[in-house]
Amino acid sequence: MSKPKIGIFGLTSCAGDQLMILNCEDQLIDLANAVDIRDWEMAKTNNDEECELDIALVEGSVAQVRDIENLKKIRKRSKILVAIGTCAVWGGIPAMKNDVPRDIMLKEVYGDKVEFIESKAAQPLSSFVKVDYNLPGCPIEKDQFLQMMASFLNGDMPEILNFSVCSECKMKENICQIVYKQEVCCGPLTVAGCGARCPSHNVPCSGCHGPIEEVHYDAEAKMFQRKGIKPEEIIRKMQVYAAPAWMPEKLMEELQHESK
Ligand code: SF4
Ligand code: SF4
Repeated sequence: MSKPKIGIFGLTSCAGDQLMILNCEDQLIDLANAVDIRDWEMAKTNNDEECELDIALVEGSVAQVRDIENLKKIRKRSKILVAIGTCAVWGGIPAMKNDVPRDIMLKEVYGDKVEFIESKAAQPLSSFVKVDYNLPGCPIEKDQFLQMMASFLNGDMPEILNFSVCSECKMKENICQIVYKQEVCCGPLTVAGCGARCPSHNVPCSGCHGPIEEVHYDAEAKMFQRKGIKPEEIIRKMQVYAAPAWMPEKLMEELQHESK
């Protein structure tokens, strides 16, 4: 049986997810032997930029005009397209300031010399193409990545986790950051997979894996308020990752109104 042809790509991103793949030291050789990596600009030369692919792994958000065309081309040549990392799945950190006009942001960062960047509001891949599987994380978790690849190699679709960081945190019997420290911990809202890394180190979860399905934003915001946390603090913390997905507009307006 021929090996599945793989392509790994980065749109507008920090390349952290691709680095995490390269960082699978103990399994990387086995993985490279099990698949046929045809196109991976970051890690190899002599890439085939036109061939058909069985699986495309795409990192980054669509935050430049050229990303749209690149993404559509990748979709066209791939049987399975996977969004890797929270930027690709939700828009991630680049989407945090989508409500600020681009020209103001660009000037702030690059001064007057911004003609070379065709920047746009950051959006997830799913806003432009069909995505077959989402692997969130900032960056992705090694174990989850390897499990996902093992499932694909067995001809299966990988498992979709739909329980929260809170569940993993409870299993570790951590001291709760909300209950005992009155912190904005996004664990109840955030999809599991990291083993509750941050609360296990006594740091509140900032939601880097993005939200679980059916998040109860209103209830969480009210709970944070009952703990005496100010509305502006709730907005600030909950907006860091996956900005377009967090908090419905109405709730955001209410919190902003209360913070005045
Ligand atoms: S510390 Fe955070 S993740 Fe852990 S139980 Fe409390 S709210 Fe949930
Ligand atoms: S605890 Fe939250 S912020 Fe920390 S790694 Fe897990 S999902 Fe990300």
